[in-house]
Amino acid sequence: MKLTEAQIAAIVENVVNKLAEEGAFEKAATGGSGAGDGVFPDVDSALRAAELAQRELDAQTLDKRREIIAVIRRTVEENVQTLARMAVDETKLGRYDDKIKKNLCVAQLTPGTEDCKPIVFTGDHGLTLVERAPYGVIGSITPCTNPSETIICNGIGMIAGGNSVVFNPHPGAQETSAYAVRLLNRAIVAVGGPRNLLCCIAQPTVESAQEMMKHPKVRLLVVTGGGGVVKAAMNSGKKAICAGPGNPPVVVDETADIAKAAHDIVAGASLDNNIICVDEKEVIAVDAIADALKAAMVRAGAHELTGRDIERLTSLVVKERVAPPHESVIDKKWVGKDAALILKELGISAPADPRLILIDVERDHPLLWSEQLMPVLPLTRVRNADEGIDLALEMEHGYRHTASMFSRNIEKLSRMARVVNCSIFIKNGPNYAGLGLGGEGYTSFTIASPTGEGLTSAKDFTRVRRCTLVDYFRIV
Ligand code: NAD
Repeated sequence: MKLTEAQIAAIVENVVNKLAEEGAFEKAATGGSGAGDGVFPDVDSALRAAELAQRELDAQTLDKRREIIAVIRRTVEENVQTLARMAVDETKLGRYDDKIKKNLCVAQLTPGTEDCKPIVFTGDHGLTLVERAPYGVIGSITPCTNPSETIICNGIGMIAGGNSVVFNPHPGAQETSAYAVRLLNRAIVAVGGPRNLLCCIAQPTVESAQEMMKHPKVRLLVVTGGGGVVKAAMNSGKKAICAGPGNPPVVVDETADIAKAAHDIVAGASLDNNIICVDEKEVIAVDAIADALKAAMVRAGAHELTGRDIERLTSLVVKERVAPPHESVIDKKWVGKDAALILKELGISAPADPRLILIDVERDHPLLWSEQLMPVLPLTRVRNADEGIDLALEMEHGYRHTASMFSRNIEKLSRMARVVNCSIFIKNGPNYAGLGLGGEGYTSFTIASPTGEGLTSAKDFTRVRRCTLVDYFRIV
């Protein structure tokens, strides 16, 4: 019997209410019973459990998979405050309110089973069916910047594709990650899904990540992080989907709606204190409008530093300066911290809790060329849009990750969209619109630019299989 969407929603509603009554969500934070909750002491035991879970999932119906995904979405919605609070407390990165937005975004906008559409060919020689099959057990390596978000997003997509997954979280986010895994496993089991469908290593390390990269039970690697982990995964000899770093430039020309550009850039660049890979990392403004843009950005919540304060700030947050076009080494101590904290360290008083620090700098300034991951946004000036686009290309370093432009000139918008050649290009909006937040389309927190999948979704976590029936089953 095929369940309707409404029936699935009713089942999920009941289960979530029952779990809440039993205090299962609170128990997830403290470790609870452990049995079937997906948290394992080592890679080997996690992979063994995940393998059993995947076999069980494979034997269940597609309706069951839809129920599992529905209960994951609801469980995140019910527990989003805890997930956000734990991530801020443990990683000391980002902002609580923004983490709530990010967790809800992945819970609501990550595609489910509908992403794995079958394809049919019919003709004189009969019928061929193409379907998307699971890989089996996927090994996923996740970042400290979006700990629960990546687990939720990967988890939904990988289960939709029929897989189980073992996460090797960032060591600095192990508690939040284990909580998310326990929470979701409890909900999955409560709707009749397999135990240990989502697993993680209790005390993950770079070594345990590397063990997973070589383990024969891992059929597909999915890594989300900086350049080091991407390189390691690509050299692992396994099929790997790699989501790496970026340095998203935003170009603003003289035809742009300046007030909107300023508002959107401040909102985008300050989201979760700029630790999201797609967040705007540098502004390239046409000189004619640069002053007006800065004034509007200040009205939108940025705090501008000038004169000697720019150098003092740079010395604080840049650990080692390297001549452009190379990236400088950023001091991790300031990654993801509030702008107010950075200003306080510099002894600068500012209106309460500014979202962003703005600096107007020459184009050889190290922060323009480096992925700073903090609410410090450098702006530099160019003579015209074409010069801005060319400079943006250099500052993006060929990561092909994310870039954006504010303009009403369709020729320049089209030129930048083509030449910057990124997984995500946003026109006249904050970069998070490219994640589906206030822009159209689904979301993903694993944006695979090096391996080309772009915003990954369930279909990317599947193998394509074909079955051909010769000469029969065409119905016209
Ligand atoms: P990170 O590279 O320090 O860590 C990411 C994960 O990789 C962690 O689990 C870490 O333990 C593991 N790791 C690191 N080096 C490894 C190695 N040599 N071998 C095996 N495993 C290794 O990154 P982070 O600080 O957690 O996250 C921020 C970085 O990730 C930024 O560069 C950001 O742009 C990028 N990121 C990209 C995306 C995307 O979708 N493209 C999403 C989130 C973050």
